[in-house]
Amino acid sequence: MANLNSSFYDVVVIGAGASGMMCAGTVSEFGFGKIALIEKNNIYGKKLLITGKGRCNVTNNCDVRTLVENTVRNGRFLYSSFSAFDSSDTMSFFEDLGVPLKTERGDRVFPVSDRSSDISDALKKYVTSEKIGHIRGEVDSLIIENGELKGCKLVDGRALFAKKVVVATGGLSYPLTGSTGIGYKLAEQAGHTVTERKASIVPLEVEEQNTCAELMGLSLKNISVTVLRGNKSVYSDFGELMFTGYGVSGPVILSASAHTENGDKIVIDMKPALDVKTLDKRVLSDFAKYINKDFGNSLGDLLPKKMIPVVIKLSGIEHDRKINSVTSAQRAELVRLLKNFTLTVKGKRPVEEAVVTSGGVAVNELDPKTLESKILPGLYFIGEVIDADAYTGGFNLQIAFSTGRAAGKALAYSI
Ligand SMILES: Cc1cc2nc3c(=O)[nH]c(=O)nc-3n(C[C@H](O)[C@H](O)[C@H](O)COP(=O)(O)OP(=O)(O)OC[C@H]3O[C@@H](n4cnc5c(N)ncnc54)[C@H](O)[C@@H]3O)c2cc1C
Repeated sequence: MANLNSSFYDVVVIGAGASGMMCAGTVSEFGFGKIALIEKNNIYGKKLLITGKGRCNVTNNCDVRTLVENTVRNGRFLYSSFSAFDSSDTMSFFEDLGVPLKTERGDRVFPVSDRSSDISDALKKYVTSEKIGHIRGEVDSLIIENGELKGCKLVDGRALFAKKVVVATGGLSYPLTGSTGIGYKLAEQAGHTVTERKASIVPLEVEEQNTCAELMGLSLKNISVTVLRGNKSVYSDFGELMFTGYGVSGPVILSASAHTENGDKIVIDMKPALDVKTLDKRVLSDFAKYINKDFGNSLGDLLPKKMIPVVIKLSGIEHDRKINSVTSAQRAELVRLLKNFTLTVKGKRPVEEAVVTSGGVAVNELDPKTLESKILPGLYFIGEVIDADAYTGGFNLQIAFSTGRAAGKALAYSI
């Protein structure tokens, strides 16, 4: 029922994040309908600005099979949308919009400028069209009459009537960017199943909290990490780790978190380039250099300053022991510690601190080619609101772009 404050559209897209802007722009590029893009923030793409530590790892330069393999949940469901718009399409898309890109370690793709704002600005440019009406507002519910989708309602009472509604409201992570989980409520209102939502790609809490608190703020670069469950290695990676007041964070930990369970051991090799024998030789040469010093004053060439008191404590060697009295067994223990600095996973930080939300709108209730609901025709779900998430490396934004594109094309050809 329209009232004085209502408007009519062919397509309403809820959320101007990565997936929503891709979808609205695609409908306008390939179709003729009247589109409304609704965003509750005063800026578009707020989360995009903080991606990749402000550099935006926009996709991963890889083939479709690798995209699917790096999607932790429901990669096969995404096969159609990945195939229709893969990472090479994402790269061409942004380069055509005037953003030169570069590929770094692990095939991660970034803007040459290292500025995430270049990516969000390009998307904003893509949604600049007379066919798109820009509406500032917060959607509260869907309008469903006699089992038919009619549009959506905003918290201020405005009603937007549309034949098609796209939910692109994101997950639960980093709610200050706008993603507070309303999409799940809309899905449930339409009769969809929403699977349990958990943190994925998230900092870890560890049993050895005091040790980490002592090291808080210290970042270890070029270390390797192995996650052990019992004696079995379940994950290993190389890169950067950061100590926090409750445990560990940083790129290697965020990636590892998708694989960890409570009780797993995180084994940090602080000197992965040196095997045990070579590291022992290196320690011996440092000991020779500092032969007349105390043990506690001999580790400055080997370790960051903040790490030294912690390693001394854990090694069991007295700080004031003279270097020439350190036994070979004690030296072996020191080398073991440098190569096996071990922490025990106690838990994950809450979903609000996660890079992505795992779980969401059940994929068996969506058409994989169009992302349209199989329960309420005319309703679409794209991006993080779907029960699909991936590892770090640009894969999550690729999910947003591929699903946004797939729904956008389907809508453009159906209105
Ligand atoms: C710190 C951080 C770093 C990341 N770095 C990367 C990276 O480098 N590479 C990568 O691939 N992925 C990265 N991600 C993940 C990636 O950002 C998300 O997976 C992606 O943004 C999801 O896109 P989306 O469109 O589904 O949701 P979002 O980008 O969250 O957009 C949702 C939009 O909907 C709006 N909205 C929500 N509710 C309403 C409502 N009721 N009414 C109107 N509007 C509403 C929100 O304000 C928001 O603008 C990162 C995430 C975080 C938190």
